[in-house]
Amino acid sequence: MKMNVNPIPTLDERINQIRDTTARIINNEILPNERALWALRRNGDASDSDRGRARELRLAVQAKVKQAGLWAPHLPPEYGGAGLSFLEHAYMNEVLAYCLGAASLFGVVAPNSGNQKILLKYGTEEQKKKWLVPLTEGKMQSGFSMTEPAQPGSDPRSIKTTARRDGDDWVLNGHKWFTSNGKRADFFIVMCRTEDPDGPSDGHGKMTQIIVPKDTPGVKVIRAVEVWGHDSDHCEIVYDDVRVPAENQLGRTGSGHAAAQERLGAGRVYHCMNSIGQMWRAFDLMVERATMREVHGGKLETKQFIQGFIADSYIDIQAARLMTIHCAEKMDGGGDPRTDISAIKVFVPAAYHRVVDRAIQVWGAAGISGDLPLAAMYQGARTLRLADGPDEVHRILIAKNVLKRYHAGESWDFGN
Ligand SMILES: Cc1cc2nc3c(=O)[nH]c(=O)nc-3n(C[C@H](O)[C@H](O)[C@H](O)COP(=O)(O)OP(=O)(O)OC[C@H]3O[C@@H](n4cnc5c(N)ncnc54)[C@H](O)[C@@H]3O)c2cc1C
Repeated sequence: MKMNVNPIPTLDERINQIRDTTARIINNEILPNERALWALRRNGDASDSDRGRARELRLAVQAKVKQAGLWAPHLPPEYGGAGLSFLEHAYMNEVLAYCLGAASLFGVVAPNSGNQKILLKYGTEEQKKKWLVPLTEGKMQSGFSMTEPAQPGSDPRSIKTTARRDGDDWVLNGHKWFTSNGKRADFFIVMCRTEDPDGPSDGHGKMTQIIVPKDTPGVKVIRAVEVWGHDSDHCEIVYDDVRVPAENQLGRTGSGHAAAQERLGAGRVYHCMNSIGQMWRAFDLMVERATMREVHGGKLETKQFIQGFIADSYIDIQAARLMTIHCAEKMDGGGDPRTDISAIKVFVPAAYHRVVDRAIQVWGAAGISGDLPLAAMYQGARTLRLADGPDEVHRILIAKNVLKRYHAGESWDFGN
């Protein structure tokens, strides 16, 4: 089934054009080759020739994306990107995410994309040349190393990894895990505490991000953590007296927490627009199956349970979509989006989870087979309720922001 993307009359022409071009590439180049592009086989492992063909196919699609001027939409042209505005990129993501994995063919791959944003904003010209440009050209890979096994990732102020100044160097010691891209990465951006971890601290002003090439002595990738019963590239890493030059520091000392929040803030909106694109795909699959499958003397679409799934999924998608667009517009307009970012971070992954769950139910056993993307989506949706801050933390933030207003004698601005 092809995705159906029509112009949205309230959007400017450029955004509609970007969405249209993206949809054409997805429909014509990616969906017909969805399995071959990632060398996915129905029976057994992919052969070397499957993998070789997959590489060739991916390069051909990437060339078309570049020709269409949509490569690396999150970066400015002077660093090899398409130079899309925040809103343009957000709207594009909804279309792009219709096919799982398509973003990588457009030069947007987490965690590289978040790291590119940090390098762009906090990096020196030298750092941009050395790390950002090769990342964008696909000549390097990177990881973002913040979460630690012994500390709660949902409270990043508790990080224990230290960086100590020694002459012209930083010396890092610590233990991280769930550093995505750990096996592939050429360098990590490591979140470190740059003060005595046991001293008094409010935490926020004590964090600094430092670039660590993976081949630096003392960087030990212990293992890739198995996720959902599969091999992954989310790695456990020990930094043991790792010495890097002081010029590898990103931004000023103590700016690490603010930089991480910025990275995550915009990233959460992009992730939510991605989730919405995937919800549309799950929805299309669900409705398509409901109109074709005969059970107990009638098509699934005639059963009221299934009609309920269709209606509830439509409501979930539209609610998620409007909340996310509202948040993106607020960010674009320079408003304070923090409460809305937390709201979409709670609502959208849960809605995505519900929609995919219903689509799987309608498809029966096929829903969890490797023949459809639904099982992968289901795992992705569940994971999103943990990654980038678990639901509970965002609920607490929403309540805190709202209550603060009322304690200051104001009510919430409902029009905002
Ligand atoms: C697939 C995947 C990829 C990831 N990639 C990266 C990466 O590249 N780099 C990186 O640094 N990290 C990464 N992470 C880690 C991720 O950011 C953390 O898992 C997340 O921040 C939660 O931290 P935690 O796992 O330590 O859970 P904890 O902080 O231990 O929290 C556990 C649970 O406690 C509950 N909880 C927490 N706080 C409160 C509260 N105040 N009140 C009530 N309940 C609460 C929540 O239910 C939460 O799920 C990744 C995680 C996943 C799953």
